[in-house]
Amino acid sequence: MKIGFIGLGEMGRPMAANQLKAGHQLTVWNRSAERAGPLVEAGASLAASAADVAADADAILLMLADDHALRSVMSAGLLAAIKPATVVVNHSTVSVAYARELSAAVTALGATYVAAPVFGRPPVAEAGQLNIVLAGDDAGIDKVRPALNAMAKKCWPFGAIAEQANVVKIAGNLMIASAIQSMAEASALVRAHGIEAGGFIGMMTQTLFATPVYSGYGSMIAERRYEPAGFKAQLGLKDVELGLSAAASVHLPLPIAGVIRDALLDALAHGGGDQDWSVLGDVAARRAALDGRRARATW
Ligand code: NAP
Repeated sequence: MKIGFIGLGEMGRPMAANQLKAGHQLTVWNRSAERAGPLVEAGASLAASAADVAADADAILLMLADDHALRSVMSAGLLAAIKPATVVVNHSTVSVAYARELSAAVTALGATYVAAPVFGRPPVAEAGQLNIVLAGDDAGIDKVRPALNAMAKKCWPFGAIAEQANVVKIAGNLMIASAIQSMAEASALVRAHGIEAGGFIGMMTQTLFATPVYSGYGSMIAERRYEPAGFKAQLGLKDVELGLSAAASVHLPLPIAGVIRDALLDALAHGGGDQDWSVLGDVAARRAALDGRRARATW
């Protein structure tokens, strides 16, 4: 297949690299062109603009930060350049409202739009083991199956209405954020009582919470290892806010998401926006002044 790939951040680079490994012809574009270097060395072509990616692509794969990034790339000429035979596959985590809008705009051109947000961090993307949530036109999905297979452990179909894949992705991320926040608070609790967080997290993640989300983020919190970020706190905040706005649109309160949004704002206010979103561990510790305590006071 001729694949165009736009957005070569932490996730986009390994996902694009897997297209090359699968033998597809790859053209890439990224706002900061230098990030394309290793892909070009491995055989990809570098397009001069996002619109140029659309010139000859069977499928255009998008892995951009957020609604704003996609809007700016689309309005800078990409949307106008999409051809009717092309399938646009949007892997970015975007709002439900924007997914609906973009799907309509692409479909109006006679082209096909597939929403394909992903679960898995950069090392999972590198291993070609992402879980990809899919929604959109069946024929379009079949056409891009070879490209999806190059990146996925499994594709999970959720029907024909594209933005429903984004609802699933956003709801899943709220579950991950809740897991991180609960470990952050529980770790602060044990530390405040003089117990080392590593032993506590180790026990819980080898017993009742033996799953990748708890063990992966749990060890980052216990070791206070927030760099390099696999998923930046600022993107985590974006996703929690996507959940809150998707919920507000159907008059659904999400009280836990509100608490996590405020904790992420706290992290950003303290300069943690580019750290991993497990920096919520430090937010909980800071609220208890754990690092400033000289001796345990008794209350
Ligand atoms: P990232 O490393 O921050 O990369 C963001 C990408 O968006 C870069 O290519 C960046 O270009 C581009 N971009 C940002 N603003 C732009 C703008 N105004 N115009 C054009 N391009 C712009 O993020 P990531 O971790 O790869 O995440 C990408 C998407 O995947 C996000 O929607 C995220 O929520 C989702 N996701 C991430 C993970 C994860 O663990 N990291 C997992 C699942 C899903 P530059 O290189 O020029 O900055």
